[in-house]
Amino acid sequence: MEPKYKRVVLKLSGEALAGDRGVGIDIPTVKKISEQIKAIHALGVETSVVVGGGNFWRGRDSADMDRATSDYMGMLGTVMNALAFQDSLENLGVMTRVQTAIEMKDVAEPYIRRRAIRHLEKGRVVIFAAGTGSPYFSTDTTAALRAAEIDAEVILIAKKGVDGIYDSDPKLNSNAKKFKELSYLEILNRELKIMDTTATSLCMDNQIPLVVFGIDEENSILNVVEGKNMGTKVR
Ligand code: UDP
Repeated sequence: MEPKYKRVVLKLSGEALAGDRGVGIDIPTVKKISEQIKAIHALGVETSVVVGGGNFWRGRDSADMDRATSDYMGMLGTVMNALAFQDSLENLGVMTRVQTAIEMKDVAEPYIRRRAIRHLEKGRVVIFAAGTGSPYFSTDTTAALRAAEIDAEVILIAKKGVDGIYDSDPKLNSNAKKFKELSYLEILNRELKIMDTTATSLCMDNQIPLVVFGIDEENSILNVVEGKNMGTKVR
């Protein structure tokens, strides 16, 4: 099967790694996702991963804390997730590199754009950790930024508990309608809570297409990469 994309950024929320536990890292869940990453990598897709950190901490979680400090805690959470993925992928025989936006050279490489591209060309999966390295941003924005920097064709946004973008919350409204396709501007105008506005406008300004889909379905990442119609496309 010819993959639809040559180079992708896969955005995984921290929640997707927690399995049914809701918090922390569930190793069997990480393994299941890693198997899919291995499968798309085997199709020849140059694969990079941006991991979230919401399974540990979100900067906005504590109103009593200094926001920047709280955001740095969130970014550190993403590093733990990245290392879990590195371990899991390498157990499956997939070569990886973790690059962090906050330097911690005993743990991983620093983020260096040209080096990340070189790793991808050499067939390594690159895992981007520590977000953008700056507080007040999100890992969705990181995915948009890295996609622009490494010239990825698409951002694959794997969501837990929802399989695309709806006009209202499908958990609260049984009549919620799922979009097959949508523009960035509609996300902003309708204030759809799929991505923050910084991330959405970065994608819009740089014309980076997104596919939003559910991680809970069997083989969902592989299906998207094979161009099978699912989720919501944003362009
Ligand atoms: N974060 C940040 N700057 C970044 C990326 C992330 O400050 O560039 C912090 C922020 O506090 C965020 C937390 O890291 O709440 C975890 O990331 P995010 O909420 O995007 O994770 P996800 O919801 O995807 O699990």
